Amino acid sequence: MYGKIKDYLQKELVNIEDAGLYKHERIIESEQGAEIVVKGKSCLNFCANNYLGLSSHPDLIKAAHSEIDHRGYGLSSVRFICGTQDIHKELERKVSDFLGMEDTILFSSCFDANAAVFEPLLGKEDAIITDALNHASIIDGIRLCKAQRWIYNHSDMRDVEEEDPSTGKKGKGLERCLKEAQSCRFRMIATDGVFSMDGDIARLKEICDLAEKYDAMVIVDDSHSTGFMGKTGRGTHEYRDVMGRIDIITTTFGKALGGASGGCISGRKEIVDWMRNKARPYLFSNTVAPAVVGASIKVIDLLSSSTELRDKLENNTKYFREKMTAAGFDIIPGDHPIVPIMFGKYPESAKLAVEFADKMLDEGIYVIAFSFPVVPRGKDRIRVQISAGHEQHHLDKAIDAFIKVGKELGMIK
Ligand SMILES: *Cc1c(COP(=O)(O)O)cnc(C)c1O
Repeated sequence: MYGKIKDYLQKELVNIEDAGLYKHERIIESEQGAEIVVKGKSCLNFCANNYLGLSSHPDLIKAAHSEIDHRGYGLSSVRFICGTQDIHKELERKVSDFLGMEDTILFSSCFDANAAVFEPLLGKEDAIITDALNHASIIDGIRLCKAQRWIYNHSDMRDVEEEDPSTGKKGKGLERCLKEAQSCRFRMIATDGVFSMDGDIARLKEICDLAEKYDAMVIVDDSHSTGFMGKTGRGTHEYRDVMGRIDIITTTFGKALGGASGGCISGRKEIVDWMRNKARPYLFSNTVAPAVVGASIKVIDLLSSSTELRDKLENNTKYFREKMTAAGFDIIPGDHPIVPIMFGKYPESAKLAVEFADKMLDEGIYVIAFSFPVVPRGKDRIRVQISAGHEQHHLDKAIDAFIKVGKELGMIK
């Protein structure tokens, strides 16, 4: 009988709407790119994960068309029954080479890859040690696994126990957790490569050092960096100079790498082999569609042959960060194209951030405000994401709009 839960849901939906937490979708009436159409009005998009501007790239569209012509629309099968084509193997090989890992296994999404990766490797005699700010899919993957769990304070490498300023909760540093987990059979440290709210980058050198000292594996989810972080765009392991020291990388094709869908686990040969035999989202969910595989191969080829796009993204990011900081905005410093513009020091910062984002849309700039519970209380922000798809005039238009609205709302002089 649906009646009782219907009443409950109706009430709860009103509650989250009243609290300003209801997720309203904004409808885009164009392809994804720097310039999009929202409600019939053209505007500049500064909140997509389209870091390399590839979402509507003509070469990718061509490659996707070509695979539809040659390998069809769908496979109606999981990989091990009759869902593996030559192109799936080609993509896995190319991703392994690009990331500098031994082997790769594809999933429908990185969410699936993270849901898959922990459970077959670790049991109740083992330990997972996970950053407090890791992505929801890592958290869910860990929930599906019987291993014992330690949550370490965000990016805190130390042998301490204290309050984590990122979460406001009392917790421990990574080294303390590793010490406590020494009696377990296997240990695995799990971290995002880049944390999506602040755009800060995991301290992979220290993490790898501790992993070696305390005999642990390291898994990095590089969804917000594959394709552009590091000087040839391999990811945070290149950026932090720890290539070869990471055991497992999970990542997505749904962000910088074309933005359609798909993900993977890339790592040590035996681990990937084990996943092909044990990972449940791989064994019991459909194969990646040929069009997506074909376009993803094209992306890896593009990025392997030239650093032009990631270089442009790096320059765009530097330019935007410098101009905005000079204008007087409070920006969390860093190198990542996620640029958080912080509102915490102003009164009624949550409301102010929303009002600011609305006014930006009037100026033709599409940005989003984030408030509690997505970010801690008092850390309200507008999160800008820079893309290689942005041209100088796009960046200038956004900066001008920020300055105009910032003055209107009394935030800057
Ligand atoms: C976006 C994201 C995912 C999910 O990727 P999908 O391929 O869209 O499922 C997983 N992990 C992190 C860190 C992400 O940012």
